[in-house]
Amino acid sequence: MADTKLEMVTDSLPPLLRNASDMRVCNRCRQETEEMFCPSCRVLTSIPRERREPATSVAGEVFECTVWQAPNRSRGIEVTTHQRDKFFSRDTDMVVLHIEGVRTIAKLGPAFWKKPAVIKKAVGEDGREKLAKFIEKHHLLPPDQSLKEKGIVDTVVFEVAIPSEEFKISVAERAEGESPLD
Ligand SMILES: [Zn+2]
Repeated sequence: MADTKLEMVTDSLPPLLRNASDMRVCNRCRQETEEMFCPSCRVLTSIPRERREPATSVAGEVFECTVWQAPNRSRGIEVTTHQRDKFFSRDTDMVVLHIEGVRTIAKLGPAFWKKPAVIKKAVGEDGREKLAKFIEKHHLLPPDQSLKEKGIVDTVVFEVAIPSEEFKISVAERAEGESPLD
């Protein structure tokens, strides 16, 4: 009797619940999709709030990150593991970074949950990479190089716009000799 009931319940479940972990919802029309962008509206989709872990940060919070450099000299932004666990969520594999007024999408990927946690790319709606451009434009160097050449540690400021999802990033203007990590 109990088995029959369970079967009936399973049969009546909508497709969303059968494959819940992959489903996203359009931020505009609320249509369900597995795509990063809504097939109808072309706006960003997100994981429904009820399925996410509660965020541990609030809008307006700020944290500073340093520049990371790969052996092949390509650069990204390194987030400390403490910052990562506080400001990012495993439920949100793609975050929006506002880079100088441009919305970009950064795919975090499984490596982000190892050490070092690095954001390597952020792609604008025009399909172009913006993060490396931003690092290049501001001549941002990894800590050891920037200390040697400038006497300071270059930092990128992250401001939480939507917890775990959207961040505004910028470069702090500061006087020479002023330590950014005080
Ligand atoms: Zn839509």
